[in-house]
Amino acid sequence: MNTDVLIIGQGISGTWLSFYLEKNGIDYFVIDQENPHTASRQAGGLINPVTGRNKVKTWLADQLLPFCMTAYQQIGDYLGIAVVESKAIIECFTNPEAAALFSRRVKENPQYLEIPNANPIQLNLFQNCKELGLIKPALVVNVPLLLSQWRAKLRGLGKIGEYNFDLNHLIETDKGFKYQHISCKRIIFCDGATIQERNISTSIPLAPTKGEALILKIKGLPSSYVYKNKLTLLPLAETDYWWVGSSYEWAFEHTRPTSLFKEQTVLALEKWLAIPFEVIEQRAAVRMGTMERRPLVGFDSPEKKWGLLNGMGTKGCSLAPYFASQLVENMIQGSAIDPEANCTRFQ
Ligand SMILES: Cc1cc2nc3c(=O)[nH]c(=O)nc-3n(C[C@H](O)[C@H](O)[C@H](O)COP(=O)(O)OP(=O)(O)OC[C@H]3O[C@@H](n4cnc5c(N)ncnc54)[C@H](O)[C@@H]3O)c2cc1C
Repeated sequence: MNTDVLIIGQGISGTWLSFYLEKNGIDYFVIDQENPHTASRQAGGLINPVTGRNKVKTWLADQLLPFCMTAYQQIGDYLGIAVVESKAIIECFTNPEAAALFSRRVKENPQYLEIPNANPIQLNLFQNCKELGLIKPALVVNVPLLLSQWRAKLRGLGKIGEYNFDLNHLIETDKGFKYQHISCKRIIFCDGATIQERNISTSIPLAPTKGEALILKIKGLPSSYVYKNKLTLLPLAETDYWWVGSSYEWAFEHTRPTSLFKEQTVLALEKWLAIPFEVIEQRAAVRMGTMERRPLVGFDSPEKKWGLLNGMGTKGCSLAPYFASQLVENMIQGSAIDPEANCTRFQ
């Protein structure tokens, strides 16, 4: 089989890269070994315009929010499914100081922050909730649905090999590469945490972090909002099911869920929610980031044979579509990749 681009990985990065290649009529083939314990399969799917206690605008928020809304609607239309919803995030303040701090941030960032005139939900759903703040717009992506439906599409098109890619069997040729029965001009790695297993440049400051989350059943919490204190509580597509997470661990002994995270999160939820909840499932995965919290996008040389779309950290849902599009534009027109994200910054 001859193809232009061989993509390794169909997480959120490989999904978006293959979508933009498909849209632009560039031939590709994806190799992905189904693995439910990867970052994209565990993500909450939130795209939040502000970050941290200080509600600082996230990197590129003004571009990413509108770009992602359109992009997710486009891929959803292509697949005949709805994969994105715009939702406000509600913060509940238990003391006047927290509300006052948020009010000050509203003045600095009125585009995304608001103190509502009327409470959009009953305050007694939460413990000691005195006042609410709103962060909006935020987007919630149904990542499992998107990945499974895109995979089904790739199967139908005969453009996916569902097996492990072994770099030892990749042969570089004058025209590109040969991998088993596949000949391609270039190869682009969207392999998430597996990047560590390849012998890539040691000058790239990779920063893998483990994230854990719980799936809950909660009756009576309005699903038109996302709720946030230190944790994020996101409504899932199935009625009364919620995702709560996540941890951010630099040091971890293994990548599986831990009882410690479950105990701490249940305790925090008991202090936060005033209504009952039930833990249904535990999740964990490693997200690949970089020390400077910028992704790894681009090709290692002007010949554009070896490419990378990785390092999405905690923001794969917004960064992957945006930078997959830049990468494909770069291949077609030679247009620039954001220098802060271009992987050549480490050369
Ligand atoms: C608990 C948790 C919660 C998160 N919540 C959010 C959130 O709410 N919003 C947000 O924007 N981000 C969130 N993230 C971060 C987000 O999940 C990641 O940024 C994103 O999923 C990275 O996607 P990726 O496609 O680059 O990598 P991955 O998801 O790791 O995908 C890599 C793919 O490559 C495949 N692969 C790798 N090596 C091989 C090989 N040799 N052969 C075949 N296949 C291979 C893997 O099986 C996998 O399918 C969260 C992460 C975690 C862990």
